[in-house]
Amino acid sequence: DEKLLTPDRQPEDTGKPEERIRPQRLAEYIGQKDLKEVLAIAIQAAKARNESLDHLLLYGPPGLGKTTMSLILAAEMGVDCKITTAPALERPRDIVGLLVNLKPGDILFIDEIHRLPRVTEEILYPAMEDARIDITIGKGQSARTRSLPLQKFTLVGATTRVGALTSPLRDRFGLVQRLRFYEVDELQQIVLRAAEILNTPITPDGAAEIARRSRGTPRIANRLLRRVRDYVEVKARGADVNGAIAAEALELFNVDPCGLDWTDRRMLTVIIENYGGGPVGLETLAAATGEDAQTIEEVYEPYLMQIGYLNRTPRGRVATPAAWRHLGYTPPDNQLS
Ligand code: ATP
Repeated sequence: DEKLLTPDRQPEDTGKPEERIRPQRLAEYIGQKDLKEVLAIAIQAAKARNESLDHLLLYGPPGLGKTTMSLILAAEMGVDCKITTAPALERPRDIVGLLVNLKPGDILFIDEIHRLPRVTEEILYPAMEDARIDITIGKGQSARTRSLPLQKFTLVGATTRVGALTSPLRDRFGLVQRLRFYEVDELQQIVLRAAEILNTPITPDGAAEIARRSRGTPRIANRLLRRVRDYVEVKARGADVNGAIAAEALELFNVDPCGLDWTDRRMLTVIIENYGGGPVGLETLAAATGEDAQTIEEVYEPYLMQIGYLNRTPRGRVATPAAWRHLGYTPPDNQLS
């Protein structure tokens, strides 16, 4: 099942069961300690001043809980959150329609904000800064610009590529925060919490086994939990999900013990077999896997670096001894870890 370990949102990640396990308040949001601290202060300060929250830019790999955090901020502030994505805001009137309908303090969440078309982005500048939009009425000689006031609102932008934002847009966010991959113990808590809500009996071991295979990503953890739950219902009726059952189920779905997928394995294998462990340039890895270089840089490499299988050096990518061993090779003696 090739899609099981892809961090992008899939149809099965949305809908009722998924909404039930989405944390509603800041206290239920597991991990991302620094982010939570910063936002807890921002929330308290904004409330004390009776103001809306500062505009917030969240960046990091997909599936780490950016949308979830935006919904939590709205809940904590007692406002509504409108969710949209940059590709849906192609024409100026798309964004204008959203902006004029916001109530005081509401949150507008724009996913993939680095993909906003120029014209749309420019409407956001005065909206973010002065709570107004400038619209042009008429054409040619008779065209006039009119300024329309908006309610004060909070823009939450989400992106996997903070470097792809234009600087005028980036500079208008008062808070710029990064989300990190989750540690195994954090994912374990996320799985335990979700299993409880889904009424799936699971042991801490079982949750840890799922956590280790989830690529540091809650969205993947929840997905693997659902697969394990199906497996247990069919193959081991009534049994608790323990480590052995979770491992057995996930092996059936070809999920590697570290959550590596075909692309990760192929990258590491090419580095090891064809280049003696590296260094290897990004373009070579892109060609060997058929993935685009950007996805490799933003999705694959960060996870491989997080688990200590890959290093980026000025001359290229290097596979670590741990990666050699994981794939069944003996690392050369002279290679430093
Ligand atoms: P992004 O916007 O970063 O791509 P997302 O916010 O859309 O990610 P979700 O799809 O909301 O990610 O995350 C998937 C699910 O994982 C959520 O519905 C929620 O159940 C769970 N989840 C995400 N982050 C956390 C967390 N920090 N604590 C507990 N559960 C979490």
